[in-house]
Amino acid sequence: MKLSTFGTKFTTHSGILSLMDDLGNALATEDEMIMMGGGNPAHIPEVEEIFRTRLQRILDNQGEFTRLVGTYDPPQGEKEFVHEVAAFLKRQFGWQLSERNIALTNGSQAGFFMLFNMFAGDFDDGSHKRIQLPIAPEYIGYTDAGLSENFFIASRPAIDHIAPHQFKYRVNFGNLTIDDSTGALCASRPTNPSGNVLTDEEVSTLDTLARTHDIPLIIDGAYGTPFPNLIYTDAQPQWNSNTILCLTLSKLGLPAARTGIVIANEEVIKALTGINAIMNLAPNSFGSLVALDMVRDDSIVDISNSLIRPFYKNKADFAIKCLHRYMDDSLPWHAHKPEGAMFLWLWLKDLPISSLELYERLKQRRVLVVSGHYFFPGIDDWRHKHECIRMTFTRDNTTVEQGIAIIAEEIRKAYAE
Ligand code: PLP
Repeated sequence: MKLSTFGTKFTTHSGILSLMDDLGNALATEDEMIMMGGGNPAHIPEVEEIFRTRLQRILDNQGEFTRLVGTYDPPQGEKEFVHEVAAFLKRQFGWQLSERNIALTNGSQAGFFMLFNMFAGDFDDGSHKRIQLPIAPEYIGYTDAGLSENFFIASRPAIDHIAPHQFKYRVNFGNLTIDDSTGALCASRPTNPSGNVLTDEEVSTLDTLARTHDIPLIIDGAYGTPFPNLIYTDAQPQWNSNTILCLTLSKLGLPAARTGIVIANEEVIKALTGINAIMNLAPNSFGSLVALDMVRDDSIVDISNSLIRPFYKNKADFAIKCLHRYMDDSLPWHAHKPEGAMFLWLWLKDLPISSLELYERLKQRRVLVVSGHYFFPGIDDWRHKHECIRMTFTRDNTTVEQGIAIIAEEIRKAYAE
């Protein structure tokens, strides 16, 4: 088969593909595997019940059922949902926006693909621009989303040691050089994989920098405010006409609905709508219709704050407790302060083996984590990249504890080599 440059780039081994493959294969094996690898949201029964009730109401109503399965939405997304999301954000935060500031995508992953390639890559004037990540580690799903090479540039963060065995990344503004080759800034908040949450001050400074250089600031709020609000520190959502805020229904518990929500100025929304039409004709209606009522009556905030966030916060606390119980105090291990999302990010300073080797050894022991080196798009040479692993803490407590006990054992062995 002869492939184009596009065909070759998108079929060559990518980090996200190998990760998803590994997770899928591990789940399909007969032996019991302790899954601490993926980013699948947990199945929270009370939340699933809310979705089930809403779905049943749709099924029981012929008009709504037809809307769910038998209608193409406009390329901007389901009209009523788009309208209600705009009204909701206005009510919640007083942001000056209307339905012309909202577009839906088939998952926020597809939204990032479109946005990144709108603002970076080759330009008609012969220039080449990149997406700049103010901090790496950053979300693995960005890594291969560029249509051209040399697509990302990232800055090493500052590392604050805030307690014994605990650290936090901060944007190192001294390192952050923005020039003509920067097409947009992008950061996930909370960050997948580290669980870091950029402070309000960091976001404001990034916003000022972006405006000064006349480039957009893309904030990936997949785990953020206002839903599912997996944020365990104080952090305010920020948006203005130069910010592109990307939300999703996935981490609320609807990953299969593939519903991403982009909030941006009208020009960006128009462009996304056009790309949506070409790539998909229309985005999926399923998520819009299931979540419509809870956005309209604001209950999406209550569901997030009273059911979803406490669930993950308890899991995070439990996982940290297990780490302290099983890890050897004398070893130079550090966990990133779990400020948000559903992961623990472990930094094993001066580990004699690479994080990939540790991952392989853990897989042999039937524990699946993700090697940290995948999460540094745009950073080539840094030992830290090979000293970290990401662990998902969403499984039941017994499984998480078993997994952490094995992880601690393998880490102890590795340091002893
Ligand atoms: N952004 C971050 C930080 C994520 O972790 C994910 C998924 O894991 C996504 C975006 C994409 O989510 P979706 O395409 O399901 O909306």
